Amino acid sequence: MALAVKGNPVSILNNAVDSIAIGLEDYSSPDERRVISCARNIFAGILLLFKHKLSLLSEPDSDEALIKQRVLPAIDDDENLIWKGQGKKTVDVQSIKERFESLNIDVDWKRIKKINDFRNDIEHYYSNLSHESIRSLISDSFLIINDFIHSHLDDDPKELLGDEAWAVLIEVNEVYKKEKAECASALDKLDYFSDEIQNAFEEFSCEECGSGLIAPTLDEGDAIESNFTCKSCDNNLPYESIINKVVGEYYMHDAYLSQKDGGDTPIIDCPECCGIYLYEEGVCSSCGHTAERECQRCGSTIIPEELYAEPFCGYCAHVMAKDD
Ligand SMILES: [Zn+2]
Ligand SMILES: [Zn+2]
Ligand SMILES: [Zn+2]
Repeated sequence: MALAVKGNPVSILNNAVDSIAIGLEDYSSPDERRVISCARNIFAGILLLFKHKLSLLSEPDSDEALIKQRVLPAIDDDENLIWKGQGKKTVDVQSIKERFESLNIDVDWKRIKKINDFRNDIEHYYSNLSHESIRSLISDSFLIINDFIHSHLDDDPKELLGDEAWAVLIEVNEVYKKEKAECASALDKLDYFSDEIQNAFEEFSCEECGSGLIAPTLDEGDAIESNFTCKSCDNNLPYESIINKVVGEYYMHDAYLSQKDGGDTPIIDCPECCGIYLYEEGVCSSCGHTAERECQRCGSTIIPEELYAEPFCGYCAHVMAKDD
């Protein structure tokens, strides 16, 4: 890796293409240890594609302002105010995201986060890493790369990346899509306390190897009775030991937003068990308990933070406790 970003768009693009190609060579190697450099190279390649776009959009005399972490105002020879990039440090993922959003460049950041999380956690997965487990990363990367080159670089990804790299990307994506669809249809045969719980299982990645291929061991019946197994590393866990992580991760972003911007938190401790209660769905993901939504004393809506007091609101529960 460690492909330096040089200050010209053509070399950034070349570095992006090289990085992705090397990552795919890593994948094709029989040496499973190269799975780690595969993840790093492909992610680095995606970031370089993004930086290439920012470099193209930078003003000619701005020292690549849009790809520099630090940008300062300056006065040019004609006494105009211009923004110039400073130093060698280039934008990180967060800054790229902010600049893209501000420039109306649309990218699936949820998917990028998935790829980046896999890359960050890769040391943790190490003992269970395999070519299979990294297919989800390559498949996600394929979707990002294909869309970005088409939509924002006005180029043909097959031509840009070369036939060989393109063939690997397509093939891995096809295999993964097929396996993922099999998992999804197996998950679909079970009954869940809520559809959102099924969706959460579909989006869940194995904690041991990072693979997104999670399927139930039961063919039918209640999900809560089933075990869930990873098709890549055979990690196998019963519903009750995996559900908090599955639901917790699924709602993590919304929970964060509700904390940051206000609004109801989507998940809260279940008043009946130690599980996660899905407030919108009105059901506990662990025990299936459905809480009272209306206070039985004053009729007001019981907010998530007061669910512990159900069937009363926090205030009424407090007043009644004093009356006792
Ligand atoms: Zn696994
Ligand atoms: Zn519960
Ligand atoms: Zn009340």
